[in-house]
Amino acid sequence: MAGRGARDGALSAPATARSMRTGGFRSVAAPHRAIQTNPMALSRPALFFLLLVVSPLAAQPLRLGAIERRHPDAIVLVADAQTGRMLGGIRVSEARSARYYPASLFKLAIAMTLLESGADPAARRGCSAADTAVDRRLRCWLPAGHGTLGLVEAIAQSCNAFFRDAANGLSNAAIATRARSLGMLPREHSGVIPAGAILGEAAMVTPSQLMRAALALASRGRLAQPPLPLASPRYRPIYDGLRECVRTGTARSAWSARTSIGGKTGTTVIDDRPGARAGWFIGFAPFDRPQYAIVVLDRRGIGSDAAALAREVLETIL
Ligand SMILES: [Zn+2]
Repeated sequence: MAGRGARDGALSAPATARSMRTGGFRSVAAPHRAIQTNPMALSRPALFFLLLVVSPLAAQPLRLGAIERRHPDAIVLVADAQTGRMLGGIRVSEARSARYYPASLFKLAIAMTLLESGADPAARRGCSAADTAVDRRLRCWLPAGHGTLGLVEAIAQSCNAFFRDAANGLSNAAIATRARSLGMLPREHSGVIPAGAILGEAAMVTPSQLMRAALALASRGRLAQPPLPLASPRYRPIYDGLRECVRTGTARSAWSARTSIGGKTGTTVIDDRPGARAGWFIGFAPFDRPQYAIVVLDRRGIGSDAAALAREVLETIL
């Protein structure tokens, strides 16, 4: 039992001294000779060190077991928003194999491409009620329609009509390039996106791939691959949209009184389960100085369910 051996290794005084000098967990994986040390022979300082320092470090860094049991169909990934290091999550081992359409998360790639094209983010586009929209492009998930909206509100409300219309005026290849850099389109994808699949249904991606988008957003582009200038004022409407999405939009179930969360939802159909859907949330917290980037996939819920789970996880770890 490796864990026990390593812990026992810390029981000898020399190993303890070395661990304290290097401040760390690493040197606790001590020489084998120390494993045979009799625990009953511990000095009091060594015992305190074991109980107060080693035990918490040896435990799972993110204590999400109770949440995991309540959400048997969810995958959650949490990363350090400063370094990009993976910190853990829920069913992390499935995060590289579970593949779903990114759905409305893809609107963030369209939004970036729109801003990079020099378009005015305040320019308003129409979203008509489904029964009055003669043009399919003007239909939305909200049957009553969103009326007219600008980019910030369109991100917050995840308006299909706005983004279909916006994408129509942009280069398909430019959207694909941006989507690839955010992990919203596999790198090997041709970049040709059929018009009917422009809202995130061109290819499936995994939670691990979408962590690239969460980290890119959380780090203001520093951790994007390649880096993106998201700290530039040009991208401000994206961040206003992510904040508003949690405050009043489709991700409002992620709103927390304890921390400020920014993010976006997505809800996708599941090809081999007619009528079934899965929900996404990607985001970060705290909003102004992000510590954590998060990706949530709820395989039996919709985007707002994933957003609620993200809040639960972030409130637990922050
Ligand atoms: Zn709409």
